[in-house]
Order: sequence, then structure tokens, then C-alpha cells
Amino acid sequence: MYYNLGIDIDGVLTDEGTAENNIWQRKMNEYFSRDIKLGKYTYNLAEAYGLSEAELNDFLKNKLFEVYQQVNSAPGARETLSELAEQGHKLFLITARHENFRDLTEDWLEQHQIPYHELHHQHDKAPLVLQKNISLFVDDKKENAINIAAENIPVILVSKYHNSDFKGNQIITKVDNWEQIKENIDLFLSKNTPTSKLS
Ligand SMILES: [Mg+2]
Repeated sequence: MYYNLGIDIDGVLTDEGTAENNIWQRKMNEYFSRDIKLGKYTYNLAEAYGLSEAELNDFLKNKLFEVYQQVNSAPGARETLSELAEQGHKLFLITARHENFRDLTEDWLEQHQIPYHELHHQHDKAPLVLQKNISLFVDDKKENAINIAAENIPVILVSKYHNSDFKGNQIITKVDNWEQIKENIDLFLSKNTPTSKLS
């Protein structure tokens, strides 16, 4: 049995670095020429790094392109997705990145040899996950995980500073890396694949 599997890009396929040392912080330090540190564990970058909304908008306008272009891919992502695609599963990448970054994103995916079948730019992911009949989703944003799980679709949530206040539940499993993502996808597939019964 083949499944439609959903995967987020930023923080899942990309390796942004650690809470203490990551590409966002490095680019902000460069851009503002001052020491910017993570001060608050939240998904909102302005709050997290103590910037004003105007500063953040200015930074994103000038540096977001560079961040998306230069960010590394997460170790193990390519191998795991290649294996899943070879097994016949369909891979749906759903990102909140603006459509303006589509060409850049396609180039990045090609450069990092990450296989996929469809790429969607969508901020509110749960309705699209339902529409595309996706059976399992991998994300790093807690709010996405909760909204998708509310539709009874299991979620693998990649641990990040901004979701450290959430421990997961029966349907949302927290993981640290692609090794654990793979383990959990394999577990999902083994549980959900009808075994042939010998009679
Ligand atoms: Mg993300």
C-alpha cells in the first residue's frame, strides 16, 4: 500500500543549526552589526531575537533570499525520502514560504537532490493535507502539528527551541533528527500495511 506523505521544508528538510548557533542568528548579526541572541523560545523571529517588527521586516526583505539559498539540508533527509519514493510513496512538500521563492526552492531541492512529487506554498496546512489525502505529516511548527493532528492525521514534530514547551501526544510524535523521522515513518508504514495472511 502506498501513502501520500507530507513534509515541511524549513526546519525539517533544512538544517538551520542549533538554538545557540543557527543561520538566522548569523545572518541577523551580519545584517545589524550587533550581537543578537535568542532571547525567547517562540516561533516569532522578532520576539525570539529581540528585534522590532520593522527591523525584522527589513531583515527579511534583504536577507531571506540568502537564508533560503544558503541553508544546508538536514542530514539523512535525502536518503530517507529517496527510499520512500522508491518504495512507491508520494511525497508532498508543503511550505509556508511565499510563492515568490518557488524557483529558488526548486533549485535548492535539486541542488540537495531531495526527491518530491508535489511542492505547495501554503501557510494554513491542515486543509491542504486533507485535500491531498496525506496520511502522515512531518513539520517543526507546533501549531501546524496541532491543526493537522486535529484531523486525526499523525504528525512527526521535529524538536526545535520554539516547540520545546510541547511534549507531543498520542498522535504527535516528537523527534530530534531524520534517523528518528525514518524510524517513525517505518513504524507508521508497518502498522498501516495490511500483512498478507497465510491460510
Ligand atoms: Mg518549518
